[in-house]
Amino acid sequence: MTDRPVRDDAARGFVLPPPPIPSVAVAGSDKRFAVRRIVCVGRNYAEHAREMGHDPAREPPFFFMKPADAVVDDGASVPYPPLTEDLHHEIELVAAIGEGGANIAVDKALDHIFGYAVGVDLTRRDLQQVAKNLRRPWDWAKGFDRSAPIGALRRAAEIGHPAKGRIWLAVNDVVRQDSDLSEMIWNVPNIIAFLSEAMRIEPGDLVMTGTPAGVGALKRGDRVSGGVEGVGEIAIAIV
Ligand code: MN
Repeated sequence: MTDRPVRDDAARGFVLPPPPIPSVAVAGSDKRFAVRRIVCVGRNYAEHAREMGHDPAREPPFFFMKPADAVVDDGASVPYPPLTEDLHHEIELVAAIGEGGANIAVDKALDHIFGYAVGVDLTRRDLQQVAKNLRRPWDWAKGFDRSAPIGALRRAAEIGHPAKGRIWLAVNDVVRQDSDLSEMIWNVPNIIAFLSEAMRIEPGDLVMTGTPAGVGALKRGDRVSGGVEGVGEIAIAIV
């Protein structure tokens, strides 16, 4: 095979063209936020822990991840994913890391945040239940294509660090999830502190901070809308 000229500097040094950089929109900017990792917190609202059959004891938070390329923008159409008959919505506050660090103290944690967005942690609940029953990982339940719709980031410099305010989600204009950020078991600074004990966080990391009660099934044709007071809103369609 003869060498072909490399037309794109970004492709130089790779045997195949590198994949696109996943990213989310930034409100009020034509630039985007490049995504490195998506880390999610499990069971971070007491009522949601109860509805999933767990005692919401204040044990340390646990985490799982979605692939960075699972992100899709506000307004996206999300195809109903394969291997499930029980696709669920989970509305969440998303914190975007703007400054890296490890072993970050709770009282310094907010300094590491670039901004916030509204996200939906789409979940194949039936696969998650199988995984729980068989003590298997959650990846197939949580990490499928387009499983992380995330709206435009708002800069913390602009909106501050929301610690209270309504978080809600509606399906076809019927409200299903309706709570307040202050109901989180672990708040954002504590989440960052715990997370950064386990791994170094870096700019581009997104942290989905858990969902309140009211999760439920979606079907093709559903319009999903949601928001977090002081942060923004998101709307997606299941197709
Ligand atoms: Mn979640």
